[in-house]
Amino acid sequence: MGEKDLQHLKGLLLRQRREILDRLHGLESDWQALSERDIEREEEAQKADLASLFDQLDERERQEIEDIDLALMKMMDVTYGICEKCQKPIALERLEALPATRFCRKCSSELEAKQKKPAILP
Ligand SMILES: [Zn+2]
Repeated sequence: MGEKDLQHLKGLLLRQRREILDRLHGLESDWQALSERDIEREEEAQKADLASLFDQLDERERQEIEDIDLALMKMMDVTYGICEKCQKPIALERLEALPATRFCRKCSSELEAKQKKPAILP
């Protein structure tokens, strides 16, 4: 994968991550209501609160963040864009749509089919 594509996908991942956290902050408090003087103190509190904020994410959002973090980590070595199941490169179009994905299209649909099966069993 070219450096340019990698940088582009990294940007997408970082934006997704921020959007999830921003959504959470939006629920938490009205940031616009803060006075300028309070902002510095808020940032300190925000850092301390990050762990507890993480607890408030729902299961799906938490998974999203974890996948994004994993993808960002993989970008630092050479495993980004490689399917974890079949070890083949994931199509760039798929990465564009789902930059945090860990599997290629084929393996992903196989896994989904597998995950759905137990639900039908008693
Ligand atoms: Zn695969």
